[in-house]
Amino acid sequence: MITIVLFGKPGAGKGTQAAFLKEKYNLMHISTGDVFRFNLKNNTPLGEKAKTFIDNGELVPDEITIDMLRDEVEKNQDCNGFLFDGFPRTIKQAEALDELLLSKDWDLTATIALEADDNILVQRILERGKTSGRSDDQDELKIRNRYAEYNEKTAPLIDYYKAKNKYHAVNGIGTIEEITQRLSQVIDQL
Ligand code: ADP
Repeated sequence: MITIVLFGKPGAGKGTQAAFLKEKYNLMHISTGDVFRFNLKNNTPLGEKAKTFIDNGELVPDEITIDMLRDEVEKNQDCNGFLFDGFPRTIKQAEALDELLLSKDWDLTATIALEADDNILVQRILERGKTSGRSDDQDELKIRNRYAEYNEKTAPLIDYYKAKNKYHAVNGIGTIEEITQRLSQVIDQL
């Protein structure tokens, strides 16, 4: 079982790259952001619980997110591998993922980060906000709050995965094809 965590700040291009990688390596793509947005759109109880956090550019509480991720994995166990996008985003989530993988007797194959400068990313998100219909993409304050959340809660995961020798990083600036190439190079060498 291949299990890859695609890691990066908001706007780093995880979703765009995941769409290519899932096809190329035949992986089940789980984007926690997409699952939340699906639930928001359909007014599910989960969507209700997550709404205010997402609208404010805050992380959804760990318990809610971890339960949701676990459900998604359970539903798709028969696949060739998983590409996790937007999860984990806190140390607690990373520990929960470790536990989940251990319980299945799977190993984490790697974490691959898309690196890019904050100012470029904020511009990208504002641009995306013109067409994405995501309210959290249209307000610079909310976007900046997502970076504050990232720096405080998600950035510590870099050292968490480095300590396990599972952290790989690629330059996230370039054309979509160039970046897919860089990611593929890393995956092919795992
Ligand atoms: P982006 O990376 O562009 O901010 P995502 O689509 O990955 O966008 O996530 C959108 C929002 O969904 C986040 O700002 C957060 O509120 C919520 N979310 C997604 N994944 C997680 C997670 N692992 N833990 C907590 N909240 C999450």
